[in-house]
Amino acid sequence: MAGAMLLAAVVALHAAHPLDEWLFYGFVALLLLLISARAWQRTGTVEGSKWLDIELGVLLMVAAYAAAVHVDGSFDGRYYALVYVAIGVMSAFAKPASSLAVIALMMLFEGAVRLLAFGALEPQQLLPHLGFALVFGLLNTLSLRMEVARLRSASRGALQAERDRLRDEARSYRLLRAPSEAGEERERDQERLLRSGVEEIQLSVLLGLGLLRDGLKIHTAMLLWLDGDGTRLRISELVSDDQDLCEGPFSTCDGILSAVLSQNAPVRLSDLKPNYLLPYYQDICPVQAVCAVPVFEHGTQRGVLVVDRREAQPFSDAELELVEQTARFAARAIENERVFVQLDRTKVEQGKLYRAAERLGAAISEQEVVDAGVSAASEIASVDFAAFTAFDSMTGGHQIRAVNGEAPQPLVGERFEDNTGLVSMAVRNRHPLPYRGDFDPSHQLLFTKDLQPPSLPSLVVLPLVVRDEPLGALVLGSYEPGAFHEATRSLLEVLASHLAVSLSNARMVRRLEEQATTDGLTGLLNKRALLATAEAKLRSARRFGRRLSILIADIDHFKLVNDNHGHDVGDIVIKGLAQINQNAVRTIDAVARFGGEEFVTICEETDAEGALLLAERVRTEFSKTAFHAKGRTIECTCSFGIATFPDAGSNWEQLFKAADTALYASKHAGRNRSTVSEADGENHAAA
Ligand code: GH3
Ligand code: MG
Ligand code: MG
Repeated sequence: MAGAMLLAAVVALHAAHPLDEWLFYGFVALLLLLISARAWQRTGTVEGSKWLDIELGVLLMVAAYAAAVHVDGSFDGRYYALVYVAIGVMSAFAKPASSLAVIALMMLFEGAVRLLAFGALEPQQLLPHLGFALVFGLLNTLSLRMEVARLRSASRGALQAERDRLRDEARSYRLLRAPSEAGEERERDQERLLRSGVEEIQLSVLLGLGLLRDGLKIHTAMLLWLDGDGTRLRISELVSDDQDLCEGPFSTCDGILSAVLSQNAPVRLSDLKPNYLLPYYQDICPVQAVCAVPVFEHGTQRGVLVVDRREAQPFSDAELELVEQTARFAARAIENERVFVQLDRTKVEQGKLYRAAERLGAAISEQEVVDAGVSAASEIASVDFAAFTAFDSMTGGHQIRAVNGEAPQPLVGERFEDNTGLVSMAVRNRHPLPYRGDFDPSHQLLFTKDLQPPSLPSLVVLPLVVRDEPLGALVLGSYEPGAFHEATRSLLEVLASHLAVSLSNARMVRRLEEQATTDGLTGLLNKRALLATAEAKLRSARRFGRRLSILIADIDHFKLVNDNHGHDVGDIVIKGLAQINQNAVRTIDAVARFGGEEFVTICEETDAEGALLLAERVRTEFSKTAFHAKGRTIECTCSFGIATFPDAGSNWEQLFKAADTALYASKHAGRNRSTVSEADGENHAAA
């Protein structure tokens, strides 16, 4: 940029005091060199940078001004037009803002030179130049943009026409199921597949027609294919020596074609006159013999194969047989391709389901299963909203457990009863709803009146059923109309059945985990789970230098309770102490039934004093509780032993032993009391 400014200054100097001839040419050479270098740099990029464009624009202006000054000696001569040319060139590659910046710089420069070098600055000289420069730049930019837009739209149109043609062809061979599957990626895949399918058919049919032509001295051989509605025949493939064939499509009511289709049998004609009307010849009929046979697929008419020849030699039976064989060959080629396309499509679908099954198999928790299900569904269809509802067969109620995508209100956690909503009905009938996947929120209810899903044109509710037991439903919604039609939907149904199995597995795993970590009688942690938690809690106490207390509780003379009232009453008392213990602790404390009528509690960040307070609260509460069973009232007491980390021990074994010793001390001292381990310094005891 600095170089450009310097060169501009030289032009100004040249205007005031003309330079030496050789010096000026040296300057011009330098200028051209710089312009070439920058232009080269600019062609390397599509967008270009703002500064590079401005610099190149300024350099072009300087060149134009230099020419005007050198030849005209002023800015009002004929060579000033070069400045407009420079603007035109610039607006072809630069953005409008950059062009405007250059025009502004140019006016400043021109004003300065007029004032300093030519000694006068008249607005009537500068303003027309500015006006012309702006108009020139604007017109150039506009016309250029319009041309680019026109070219773009033309190429888009041509591309679309090509795609439509391919689709038409694929549809007429029934390679394509209408309506097409949605989604850009899927559409591209399908297009590739269809293109190769159509090409394959064309090659096979051309081969058949070519063989016929060479073998039977045929002038024109063509395969005509019926349109979807069966009213017109389009040329599918042809070989001909004739240049002037009609392109079609031809009506099924046209002469020989109509005869073949209505009789469903071959038609042979000979001795044709030039005025005979064969639908695919423009004016005069160049052939004397023609043979047309119907083409069938599984007994259904699909098209007509026509061959003709110039010679007045009728088609013999043997020749007719060959033509019919070729017709069967063409039909089989199309049929094969259809099977191939279908197989390929199935392969793609299988791949998606396989990946989904893999992901679902790896998911362990309910949330993971739902997430894997939703992401697999998004691969199959365009999904903008997904919800998972769980069904409780005991109560007949539903609960929305997970929601993916935006909804007009928070839905997770909401419950609703069995009703006439789509989710309830789909779960009840074990059948996906709504029937076609089209959703009309004004007439259809998804959950309940009060729980609004987003307003979506496409929606499907897939019931999740395992061994005839409904677990809930997966709701999928899309802003794309027709997103869950036919093919997509059957895939989603398979996905839903995978998902249901994974969900039921996840629930079983959760139940097993619960069973493995909790005590069946009291619902507290069992010994194994407590020991696992104890290690982790001790590690963290050690790392952060915090205290941690363990409390062991044991019911006093419990054998007597069993002996006097029976084991089942003993169980009631055990559950009672468990409940009191559980209610007394904080959520971060861990309480376990350690065995028989013995309980262990671990309290983090709790010293011996705090632990003693807790033990006393539980002990007092328990001693005041009367249990009623078999018409009798049972009252019990319990004793506590307490040990605190790190004073009473540095590991679990030491701490547990210390607490157990303290418990023994409580028992020994007469029971119904709490004792803090002696190792804790002073031997607290409370009764
Ligand atoms: P102490 O005051 O010294 O603790 O006397 P105790 O009778 O309570 O003695 P101990 O704690 O050794 O007694 C444990 C008794 O608890 C023995 C066993 O019969 C009983 N028991 C163990 N598990 C269960 C259970 O699940 N249910 C019932 N009802 N009793 C159990
Ligand atoms: Mg005991
Ligand atoms: Mg006991």
